[in-house]
Amino acid sequence: MRPDRRGFVQGSLLGPIGLMLAGALAPHAAALEHATAMEKEKAMTDLPPPPGNDPSQGQMLANLRRANAVAGRALEAGHHPFGAVLVAADHTSVLLEQGNLDVVNHAESTLARLAAEKFSAEELWGMTLYTTAEPCAMCAGTQYWANIGRLVYGISEARLLELTGSSDKNPTMDVPCRYIFEHSQKGIRVWGPFAEVEEEIVALHRDFWS
Ligand SMILES: [Zn+2]
Repeated sequence: MRPDRRGFVQGSLLGPIGLMLAGALAPHAAALEHATAMEKEKAMTDLPPPPGNDPSQGQMLANLRRANAVAGRALEAGHHPFGAVLVAADHTSVLLEQGNLDVVNHAESTLARLAAEKFSAEELWGMTLYTTAEPCAMCAGTQYWANIGRLVYGISEARLLELTGSSDKNPTMDVPCRYIFEHSQKGIRVWGPFAEVEEEIVALHRDFWS
């Protein structure tokens, strides 16, 4: 059975329980504010996870640095300094790279749309999307519909909001991507933010938005 159909079947049974869970999530999320990336991931949904092993922390950091190199090239090409990569189930083979294009074609949503054309939903469920900054609601939604099973991000959207401030070039939202996935019907796994790569990611943003 396809993972997205499996998720749909489960979700259709939730009903009032789902509503109770949704109500319980808000204080739960607040308690996780200072948890590490690994602790936060463990607290996610009980829905079936993607198959295979999760990436190691070393693999996550290496692939985040690869995404940040893509962000650097996007910046050099005149775009906003965001980058994303799609990594195979072996957690080392980079299948797609995508930088920011414009305000409606973000790195992650563009990558997810391309990935959905190139790979099957079953293949994508075992893959991981890496992105320098936590995906916005649009990008998290596109990852969800593309059926990419794992997400690793470098800096939080709240941290990005501190950097972009009121810049009309990027009026950053403040909607944690976990909020999107916790209100979904798939057990997408999420890791981030990572303090180990914060400084190198922020370096591309610090002077860009002022
Ligand atoms: Zn986005």
